[in-house]
Amino acid sequence: MNARRQTRLLLSLICLLTVASVGTAKGERARSSIGEPATAPETTGLREVITPKYQRRYEEWKAEFLSTDIGKAQWEMYSHHPRLLLTITIGGKNSEGAGTGGYKWNDKGELVAATIVLGERLDSGYPSAVYYPVMNALEPFESKQLIGGTVLAATKIAHEFGHVMKISSTPEDLYNLQVKLVPSYNKIFLSNGYNVNDPRLVEMAQKMGGNPVQIWEDREYWGEANAMLFLKDRVEKEKFHCRLFGKIKRAVEEYAKDYEERFAEIAKEQGAIYTCGWR
Ligand SMILES: [Zn+2]
Repeated sequence: MNARRQTRLLLSLICLLTVASVGTAKGERARSSIGEPATAPETTGLREVITPKYQRRYEEWKAEFLSTDIGKAQWEMYSHHPRLLLTITIGGKNSEGAGTGGYKWNDKGELVAATIVLGERLDSGYPSAVYYPVMNALEPFESKQLIGGTVLAATKIAHEFGHVMKISSTPEDLYNLQVKLVPSYNKIFLSNGYNVNDPRLVEMAQKMGGNPVQIWEDREYWGEANAMLFLKDRVEKEKFHCRLFGKIKRAVEEYAKDYEERFAEIAKEQGAIYTCGWR
């Protein structure tokens, strides 16, 4: 990554992190997906905490996600997970986005809790191609009415599932260290004339496995990789699938070159006829 791009990304990331927050739905009594009032909390599996006013849209987004084999398989995996309680809810400040957090680990260092908060307008809004080459690529297809907002919402759900999968393989110590060091890193960066070669920053980056931009990119691109996996399933029989994957490829080449292999692997997975120009 060149220095100027890194500085620009660090600055925009600091802005992003200041406004980002994983909220929880408050104010209304939650009920489970089958319409029963929520009872004793489950300890493992998949818990859906959806307020009645969002129930209908939630069911549509979920049905879209489950219309693919990959969506079904991932849903099943978390529904029957032996250790993890994954909560899905709608609310938060980021109405067109989503967030994953509320991570907890057990004594053995295994992830036992995570919460996905979906925005109430998840079916609209396309995030920037810089960090979201997959979700962003859908935009022209919606304006041409080739896909609907429900597909966009389901793709965002897949992105969040990608975060949960990645965090499951991230050691708790490393995650906590990143949470602790990133604000200190950013503070020094803002006060040292944006010098990423500052020995203090170099040392911090080494300890936490990258600078804040690299950590952020790596997490987001894991989310996007899973979003791509979902879309591959969802659009494989559509005439436009290669146009869509071509658009993703161009965005990855432009903004996520260091992570290209991750996306190329997915493109190649279903055999040569579906690579759509990926090596
Ligand atoms: Zn994300």
